[in-house]
Amino acid sequence: MERAVRAELHRLRSVLGEQADVERVLRRRLALRMQEQGAVPVKDPVGWFIGRGLPQRQHCPERRCDDGRLMHNGTDCEACRWLVWDKRALRTSVAQRLAESLGLPDATALLAHDVPIDLRTRLESTLRQECRELAQKHAAAMQEHALYEEQLREAGERRRQEEAAWAQEQQLLPCEVCGQARSGGLCPGCRATRQTEERIREAVGLALAVFGDQPQSPAKADLAVASAAEAGMRRRVEGSIAACRAEGGFASVAAQRGLLEAELELDRLRSSSLEYLASTREARLAGRQAFEAEMRRAPMYESYQAAQQGALEAEGQAQQRVAEHLLKERLRSFRAERQRQDTAPPDLYAIRASEVRALLCSPRPSPDKAAADSAGGTRRDGQGRRTELVRQPLGKATVATAHATAGSV
Ligand SMILES: [Zn+2]
Ligand SMILES: [Zn+2]
Repeated sequence: MERAVRAELHRLRSVLGEQADVERVLRRRLALRMQEQGAVPVKDPVGWFIGRGLPQRQHCPERRCDDGRLMHNGTDCEACRWLVWDKRALRTSVAQRLAESLGLPDATALLAHDVPIDLRTRLESTLRQECRELAQKHAAAMQEHALYEEQLREAGERRRQEEAAWAQEQQLLPCEVCGQARSGGLCPGCRATRQTEERIREAVGLALAVFGDQPQSPAKADLAVASAAEAGMRRRVEGSIAACRAEGGFASVAAQRGLLEAELELDRLRSSSLEYLASTREARLAGRQAFEAEMRRAPMYESYQAAQQGALEAEGQAQQRVAEHLLKERLRSFRAERQRQDTAPPDLYAIRASEVRALLCSPRPSPDKAAADSAGGTRRDGQGRRTELVRQPLGKATVATAHATAGSV
């Protein structure tokens, strides 16, 4: 008996896992079996224990099921519930078939309580046979499912291995630009150069969206703005790369430095754009309204000076908000316009690029002229407004150069 208990405990551990409290599971099972036995006396305790008390009653595919209950948590077994419904339906269908073969009008007589004993025996034996067949079918389906899952797992593993091999292969590819070996298709230096070009394109777009006169029909002034933005960016980037190389930096490190410079420059252009947009009529109007609204609340401040200070802050914030909104709107419509133009010839960016190249190849302005430019000395009538508004170094350079170029184109 002790050996039987140990064997059952061992088996339970293999079903429920090493962490499970299998002794408690077995105690609960015995308590339930004794409850089920009720007042009926047990003549052979060992026989009862080995035959009825100890064994698990698993009637469904769920391995943790004992007599319709899950052993590890005591809840009802879902699989059993389905089986009960299945069995009821099965009993009815078997009874109907049997009734047909016996020439009975329907299965009511066979399913009734007072069915003759020989008919009941026939029904039960057919039912048992059907149940056995169903169980076999179920076991075969389970096996098939397990096989399918195994195949899935193997396929997943194969795919992972293939992907890893592909990634390794990619890593071994040379750089598609400079041919450097084992660069994963693009070496760090060439990647930085490519990203720098993207930043430059972004800067040109930003300058055109904010400072361009007619985004719908690019005119000469637009071309000048684009050229100036691109030239400004390239000057900074190339200067930074040259400085890095002069310090003995590798080409790829210098390219990274160039990218960093391009990003800084783009940031500067963005803030000068915002500053310019904050001084447009639209933004100033919103600022004045905010100022006046805050001044109406002056009695809530401690002093007149404090109210004025608060109103000035509100004015600045309102102008900033409008500037940000305008920037977003202009960029959006500029991009939409560019997308529209991209689908139709001619290639405006190519035209601009050739303009810029021409600009880069032309001799630099004399120091005197450059100083005059940066001081705003060469402003033209009707264009001074914009130059005046932009105070950031890049913005000033951009617009001043733009106007200088506008004159030369
Ligand atoms: Zn079950
Ligand atoms: Zn490369």
